[in-house]
Amino acid sequence: MPVATMLLDVRGVTKRYGGLVANSNISFQVGYGELVGIIGPNGAGKSTLFDLVTGFQPADEGQVLLEGESVTRLRPDEISRRGVARTFQKLKPFTQMTVVENVMVGAFQKTTVPARARREAMEALDRVGLADKAEAHARVLSTGQRKRLELARALATQPRLLLLDEVTGGVDQRSIPALVDLVRRLHGEGASLIVIEHNMSVIMGISQRIVALNLGEVIADGPPAVVGRDPRVVEAYLGQAYVA
Ligand code: ADP
Repeated sequence: MPVATMLLDVRGVTKRYGGLVANSNISFQVGYGELVGIIGPNGAGKSTLFDLVTGFQPADEGQVLLEGESVTRLRPDEISRRGVARTFQKLKPFTQMTVVENVMVGAFQKTTVPARARREAMEALDRVGLADKAEAHARVLSTGQRKRLELARALATQPRLLLLDEVTGGVDQRSIPALVDLVRRLHGEGASLIVIEHNMSVIMGISQRIVALNLGEVIADGPPAVVGRDPRVVEAYLGQAYVA
């Protein structure tokens, strides 16, 4: 596919922390409406890659292009306004605020009118199945519901690209299928997504393409069935099991 039709084009990004290379010359692309899974053992560089794409950390080298325009040197709020939203592995709801107020924080990215922000927040809560908890305090939510809240907050910014860090991480087993269905549905509605996920059956099941990282490098990029059988990917995970 020609580069101009790509939603996200990551070109050779490198991030060093002292002597440690957390991301080494990483390149990959995300097309419109695509769901790309990012896998790799702990410490492979997945979250760092999200930090570089969303501006939370500056890349030492390389470029990040959104619809052909460089966002490489922009701040997180600037990148968010350009349509890149993110959820975090560690959930950080404002526990003193209600669920809908939490989501309005996302909606205020696009509007300054409180009534409009509330309407858009309610729509986002409806999409993630949390509308009935809108007036509850965020602190009473279960982990699965907090994941939905984070998703709603991200959706309320009306993103062109959504980055999800560990959708099912820390969620109790029984809540996982519904969360996975939700991500599938968002994708089915046309959302473009990059998803980091430890649960292999989940990520293999929802992704159109998988980018596998190990020690900060891309070791495979392709359809789930191909990447899952790639000897370097298998070895990276066996290595982790061995260490564990
Ligand atoms: P993953 O998300 O795949 O578990 P990370 O991107 O969190 O991997 O980490 C990649 C490597 O970079 C790890 O060795 C980690 O310890 C290191 N790292 C990540 N963030 C920082 C930081 N802020 N300062 C120093 N080292 C970091």
